[in-house]
Amino acid sequence: MDEKLLTQARDILGKAERVAVFSGAGLSAESGIATFRGQEPDALWSRFDPMQLASVEGFASDPATVIDWYNWRRGKLAQAQPNAAHRAMAGHPGLMHLTQNVDDLLERAGVPESNVLHLHGSIGKDRCHAACGIEEDISLEKPEPLRQCKGCGAYMRPAVVWFGETLPQDIWSQAEVVCMEIDCLLVIGTSATVYPAFSLVELAAGQGSQIIVVNTEAIDSNQGALIEISGKAGDILPKLLD
Ligand SMILES: [Zn+2]
Repeated sequence: MDEKLLTQARDILGKAERVAVFSGAGLSAESGIATFRGQEPDALWSRFDPMQLASVEGFASDPATVIDWYNWRRGKLAQAQPNAAHRAMAGHPGLMHLTQNVDDLLERAGVPESNVLHLHGSIGKDRCHAACGIEEDISLEKPEPLRQCKGCGAYMRPAVVWFGETLPQDIWSQAEVVCMEIDCLLVIGTSATVYPAFSLVELAAGQGSQIIVVNTEAIDSNQGALIEISGKAGDILPKLLD
């Protein structure tokens, strides 16, 4: 860990009035939640076919398999615990969270639900695939098997964003507003180089926000005002925020 960068980042955070956190898979990986891409041997997309398990086409051709796979992931998540990074952030109730993660580890660490914008949806909810508006909280320990929507009879599905789907527009708009109002954006556990996620970082930087990145992989960015601390979020966040 680069102590000089850490001091610099602490200084920026200390002076900032409004701070938001943009997080990705690297944050939850330290809780044992498998990432999708990346170098890890258990990365989900090195073992499973995303087009079969996380796309509208895959769900149309074999909905039961898709539900089984999500329920397997839900079981894993039920056993996982928030890590030191989640807990360090939960100690700062003023932080707004924009997360690509569909898990509930921030909330379970104690972050108020109203402070978390799930850009890619939540695995702890099902919604109607026909989008009649019905959404239900489900149990991670005992998730429902494939079932039909009580409102319209279409299948229920995980309330997450699949390949080829657009991000939930209302959540995205709220995230944009947050990025326009902050002094500092903390980017954690994501290279944030993929659009549309990266446009939030660009938006914040364009409004004069400082950008602090904590990640195990280097990020490729042209942002001028950027401090990059390389390492695990669970090691760095407690030092950064305490
Ligand atoms: Zn429905």
